[in-house]
Amino acid sequence: MDTILQLIHKEKTRQQQTIRLIASENYVSESILTALGSFLTNKYSEGYALNRYYEGQEYIDAIELQAIQDAKTLFGAEYVNVQAYSGSPANLAVYLATLKPGDTLLGLDLSSGGHLTHGSKVSISGKWFNAISYGLHPDTMRIDYEQLEQRAHEHSPKVIISGLSAYPREIDFERIGAIAHSVGALHLADISHISGLVATGEHPHPFPHADIMTTTTHKILRGPRGALIMTNTPTLAKKIDKAVFPGIQGGPHMNNVAGIAIALQEALTPEYTDYTKQVKANTQALAEALMQKGYDLVTGGSDNHLVLVDLRSKNINGDIFSKQLMRAHIETNKNAIPFDTLGTPQKPNGIRLGTPAVTTLGMQELEMRQIAHYIDQVYQAGDSMETLNQIKTEVIEFMNQFKL
Ligand SMILES: *Cc1c(COP(=O)(O)O)cnc(C)c1O
Repeated sequence: MDTILQLIHKEKTRQQQTIRLIASENYVSESILTALGSFLTNKYSEGYALNRYYEGQEYIDAIELQAIQDAKTLFGAEYVNVQAYSGSPANLAVYLATLKPGDTLLGLDLSSGGHLTHGSKVSISGKWFNAISYGLHPDTMRIDYEQLEQRAHEHSPKVIISGLSAYPREIDFERIGAIAHSVGALHLADISHISGLVATGEHPHPFPHADIMTTTTHKILRGPRGALIMTNTPTLAKKIDKAVFPGIQGGPHMNNVAGIAIALQEALTPEYTDYTKQVKANTQALAEALMQKGYDLVTGGSDNHLVLVDLRSKNINGDIFSKQLMRAHIETNKNAIPFDTLGTPQKPNGIRLGTPAVTTLGMQELEMRQIAHYIDQVYQAGDSMETLNQIKTEVIEFMNQFKL
C-alpha cells in the first residue's frame, strides 16, 4: 500500500500529465507551496492582528496585516477579513453578520449557474434562511434582471446575492445593486470565480454597487484555499469580523493566510494582469474552436473564463463524457444546463470548461485549438478504449511541454 507521501507524489505526476479544464482550479506558485508547508501551521492565533488571545504573534500579525493591505489595494476595499477557511464559511459568516434564521435571501438559482451557498435547499443557506432564487431568461440564457427585480419587490429580502459558479457571461453588478437598495436589501457580490478578472479590470467591479464582496482565493486568484470578505462600510466590517471569529471559526489557518498574502502580491504585478487578459482570450479561442466542431455552448460563447457545453445535441450526457475525457487525461466536470428538464444532478447534460489553470501553464490560443481537437477526438472515440488510450498518450506528451 502507498504511504501518504507516495500518494502525494502520484497526485503531482497525475496533475503534470492532465489537462486541467476545471474552471475553479489553478496551480499555486512554489512560494505559496512553501508558505502552506511552513511552521506557521504550528501556531494558534485566535483574534485579529494586534488583538490576540495567544502570545507569540509578532510575525503572524505582520503576515495578516500584509495580506489585508494587499487585498485592499487589489480590490479597492477599505475593510478586509482574510481568515475565512474557504468560500462557503466566508458566505456563512456574511449571513451570520447580516441575517437572523428565517430571514429572506435572494440568490441565483444553482441550475442557472449560482452556488450552493446562495440559498440551495441542501445548504445551510437554504435550510436556515428563507431562500428565494432568481434565474435566467429562457430566450437569452442570461440573468433575468426583470424577474430578479420582481422577486425582490415581492419578497423584500434582506440580502441579494450576485455571483456565479457556472455562468459564462458578465454580471451587471450596478443593476443588481440598484435593485437591492431599492428594496432596502444588502447586496453581497460573491466574486469567487471571477475575482482575478474584477481585480484587473477585465470584469466590471462590484464596488460601489455591492455592500459586501466575498471571494475564494484558490480559483482564478491563484492562491491557496481560503477566502476574503471585503466591505467599505465600517459597521458591516465590525459585524463580519465578529461573525468569522468567534462567530463560526476558531483559530485562523495562518499558513494559508501567508499563502494568500503571497498570492495577492503576485496578483498586484503586471504579469497577473496579462494573465487575466490571456484567460479571457483563451476562453474565446476554446469557445470558437468547439463551436466550429459543432458543439453548442450555453449563450453561444463567453465573456469570462468559462464555457458551458450543452451536450443534448451530441447524444451523450455530461457524466459519461467527463469520465471519457478523464480516461484521456482531460479533467473537466459535469454540469447542469439551464432549463434542461431531462438531466439530473448525477447525470446532467453539460460539462463546464475553464481556462484559468491551463493559462497559468503558459498555454495560448494555439493550445486551446489543440485542446478542442482532443475533446472532439474523445467524443468521436466513444467507448473505444484503444482510441482513448492513444489520445491519452498524445495528451501526456502535449503536457510535457508545460511544467507545473
Ligand atoms: C467556489 C465557490 C464558493 C465556495 O468555495 P469553497 O471554497 O469551495 O467553500 C462560493 N461561492 C462561489 C460563487 C464559488 O464559486
